[in-house]
Amino acid sequence: MTERETLKADVPAESLVHQRPTNVLVVGVGGQGVIMISKVLASLSKELGHQVKQSEVHGMAKRGGAVFSHVRFGPAVFSPTIPEGEADILVALEWAEGLRWLPHLKQDSGTFIADTQQIVPPFACRNRSRGADLGYPRETVPDVMEKIANSFALDAVGIATEMGVAKAANTVLLGTLSAALDFPVEAWKSVISEFVPPKTIEANIRAFDAGRDWALSFDRQTHLKDWTGRTVRSPAEVVDSAAGITSTLEITEEWCKGCDICIKFCPERCLAMDARQIAILVDPDRCTGCRICEWLCPDLAITVHTQTNTDSA
Ligand code: SF4
Ligand code: SF4
Repeated sequence: MTERETLKADVPAESLVHQRPTNVLVVGVGGQGVIMISKVLASLSKELGHQVKQSEVHGMAKRGGAVFSHVRFGPAVFSPTIPEGEADILVALEWAEGLRWLPHLKQDSGTFIADTQQIVPPFACRNRSRGADLGYPRETVPDVMEKIANSFALDAVGIATEMGVAKAANTVLLGTLSAALDFPVEAWKSVISEFVPPKTIEANIRAFDAGRDWALSFDRQTHLKDWTGRTVRSPAEVVDSAAGITSTLEITEEWCKGCDICIKFCPERCLAMDARQIAILVDPDRCTGCRICEWLCPDLAITVHTQTNTDSA
């Protein structure tokens, strides 16, 4: 069996006779691009002649809230939602959200594609001391691979960032998803081009290719070995786990509209408004790098960077 075949959702041929749709569930948190993935997939399926139903919940998304979308396509689709245990493919843009939705995946044959990016929900940070337990799932990539035969965890954000297109992590995952479905590559690229801003088409196509290449060259044993002993960790945990690791805040003044949200929600009270009504970091020593401000800013004006001694060496 080739790697390409390994990644494919196991949809029995005879099921088409019974007009069983293919079910793809896309999950993540606000601001990650869950809806973009599901719209591209729904639009592509429709263009290729399938009947499609798509449903989504993003009303609570703000930045950092849960978002999910069901996409069902096939010769005939009657319901817009995927029953528990019936998803052929689960695409997770955030690790804990992926774990939370695993019961929706077909237990024996479902394919799990997940970004290892970890976003700690704002209200999981109840203990404000450094090194505190964030109440985040501890399952590692090998733990999940042991439970789900067809599981593929990749650092999509890392891949996109290395390519200089950090915001295209969702397109990296679309590339990975494309290896699990029998749709022509050029058709994927054409639909993606319709859904991204014109200036970013080239970057998004590169991100798509990177995700697809990652999937096509996937080797389970090597992957398992790479992840053994490693944990999927949040930036805050990284900051706390090794001496000499620091976090810094980058606030894009032009994008800050002075809404006050980051200041109100920062657990350490280290942000304030300056005289121009722009958020500033007033107490860097107290900042734990928890990223709550980054995830809640509606204008994407804050980026939290973490830096290790090795990075700065
Ligand atoms: S400034 Fe941002 S990253 Fe730092 S502690 Fe406050 S919310 Fe967390
Ligand atoms: S940085 Fe973002 S959340 Fe903070 S005040 Fe400015 S716009 Fe609001």
